[in-house]
Amino acid sequence: MARNPQYDPLFQPLKIGPKTTKNRFFQVPHASGMTNAAPHVRAAFRGMKAEGGWGVVCTGAASVDPSSDDSPFPCATIWDDADIRAHALMTDAVHAHGALAGIELWHGGAASVNRTSRIAPLSPSGVPWMPTHVGFMSAQRPKIMDAEDIRALIQWHADAAVRAEQAGFDILYVYAGMGYLPYQFLLPDYNHRTDAYGGSVRNRVRLVEELLDAVREATHGRCAVALRMSMQELRARPSEVAESEAHEVVGLLKDAPDLFDVKMDYSAYDCAPSRFAAEGSHEPVIDFMKSVTDKPVVGVGRFTSPDTMVGMIRRGVLDLIGGARPSIADPFLPQKIDEGREEDIRECIGCNMCIASWHDGVWVRCTQNPTAGEEWRRDWHPEVVTRDRAGQVLIVGGGPAGLEAALTAARRGFDVALAEARDDFGGRLLFESALPGLRAWMRVAEYRLGQLRKLPHVSLYPASPMTDADVRDFGADHVIVATGARWTTRLCGANELPVAGLEAPRILTPDDLARGQVPEGPVAVFDFDNYYLGTAIAEHLATLGLQTTYITTGGAAGAWGIMTNEQPGMHQALERLGVALRTSEIVTGFDGVTLDLAHVFSGAARQIAARSLVIVGQRAGGSALFDSLAGGRDDSFSLSVTGDARAPGALVHAVYQAHETARGLDLAPSNAALRRDGPVPLTEPVT
Ligand code: ADP
Ligand code: SF4
Repeated sequence: MARNPQYDPLFQPLKIGPKTTKNRFFQVPHASGMTNAAPHVRAAFRGMKAEGGWGVVCTGAASVDPSSDDSPFPCATIWDDADIRAHALMTDAVHAHGALAGIELWHGGAASVNRTSRIAPLSPSGVPWMPTHVGFMSAQRPKIMDAEDIRALIQWHADAAVRAEQAGFDILYVYAGMGYLPYQFLLPDYNHRTDAYGGSVRNRVRLVEELLDAVREATHGRCAVALRMSMQELRARPSEVAESEAHEVVGLLKDAPDLFDVKMDYSAYDCAPSRFAAEGSHEPVIDFMKSVTDKPVVGVGRFTSPDTMVGMIRRGVLDLIGGARPSIADPFLPQKIDEGREEDIRECIGCNMCIASWHDGVWVRCTQNPTAGEEWRRDWHPEVVTRDRAGQVLIVGGGPAGLEAALTAARRGFDVALAEARDDFGGRLLFESALPGLRAWMRVAEYRLGQLRKLPHVSLYPASPMTDADVRDFGADHVIVATGARWTTRLCGANELPVAGLEAPRILTPDDLARGQVPEGPVAVFDFDNYYLGTAIAEHLATLGLQTTYITTGGAAGAWGIMTNEQPGMHQALERLGVALRTSEIVTGFDGVTLDLAHVFSGAARQIAARSLVIVGQRAGGSALFDSLAGGRDDSFSLSVTGDARAPGALVHAVYQAHETARGLDLAPSNAALRRDGPVPLTEPVT
């Protein structure tokens, strides 16, 4: 199919200093968890995006010196020549598809507290970034940089730039955002200096300017130099000479870099969950850029709609469409738009499991794209699945796992029958995506259904509850059971030990709500799942007009949501809706009128009035259907269980497991699939 001419502006080349990008799709630097210790994994992950049509593909932040050590977060380095070859694998993979390769030279300053290197963190004025974090996590306050430290910082960037060029990078970033060192110089809250680097905006900008000059001079103008800046705080600061300090800073720097990459200041707003922020949510902060500078501007905003993207260019907000999450969820997004296949885009759902992977210290995982991070280790391609099999597969259960298993099995050449008990496909998402803010999550089911409906060798059977006899009668060669999990009414005690459930009226689980039961108010939601669902249900019940109390064992609502950047939004939503919030408590008793609570640590007992109790705690996997089929084996079909039925977990795990199940169908199990990566020896030829 041909490209829709309306999207032509997305495919126009653009000069970025001495380099030219072939189109406007720009994979901005983003965390992948892939350090120099996994260089082939990283090269394959980034290279896949170049293969999918991104005109620029950047690696994540690369520390320029051991005094910027982000541990325990995974962190790439470009400290010395030994690091060059690891990065060269990535630039080669990117260049192989005609894309430009970029690197984000990074010094964290006081925001990286050097747990491994144990070098005193650097800062403009000794003010810790996020004081609670620094004090709490490392008990170390930053050192105030003297003139020698500043000279050294500039030299580290210059040296790193030389190495980056040797590694093959085309675009070299100076990173003045997200609390990292050059950013701290920009903000007077962190910069109290009285020398030439502090005080006036002109002085606060000086360090960034000198870093840009140093990087450019070190590479003799051969590489493009980009400035990445956070804008949220500066935009909110009044200026005497411009509309805001952000305008003033950009005005002073307007000719200094070859490219501006602009973003928010805090991860929860920068990489905002779809639950609380729409596509393009950065625009009110970065919309002024083109009125101040003639240099190209790239920005992000979880752009998955080509109409929105082209609108950003036509309206003069951005020149280049930045993508981090959309490029993880679908590395082939540009190619699909180019080929007029917009409906094939696997749209990011904004769940932020990807950023949670980085917070967890591991390689990127994606709910929508189970192949992310597995391009090299398992040789999984997000679009190309070898058509290596015939025969018929029956998949029972049309939730995220069943849909993913069906699609992957069909791509391998199997005839696929997908039977779902309910009238609609989508499994748990049918209920969950109807909760406040979670609509975009339904894309997990919608994308797969859309693809399955195009395949002639796939038969979809809604409203088809399958029994053991039904499955056997069907006569498929392979059976995959993906019947999901159920929520239990089990409780948890102090020390988070499991406790048997309570006997009382009106104790409900999310499954009961999904079946349409409405609790009587006042209602209490007891959450020790501590992810998104407990607070989403509390929001939902409050929206129904029920007096709602949210109780959690955690110290904050949906405590694990700090990993997915949902925590601020969850608290804001509960506050806005008048949901009473009780943290660090467990439920100890309920009689349908009064709810007994105890503090997790002190054991202090409290009571509140409640007519209903919703428990969002544990899920039980397992499948009676699978057990029955496994019990009466007749060897006429292979049998697998996958998704939540195998091990209940987040969507990302169900989709991944199902992908793995379908990839391995009719093949001998092999752990050799997990190829092990390691540092590249200095002498190894770049391949
Ligand atoms: P997962 O996340 O693993 O896909 P879900 O709970 O979201 O799990 O989806 C499981 C799906 O399986 C649900 O849509 C459910 O209706 C369906 N299902 C469960 N048992 C049967 C059965 N015996 N026959 C057909 N469908 C079933
Ligand atoms: Fe998008 Fe979720 Fe994938 Fe991240 S994990 S890219 S937010 S779908």
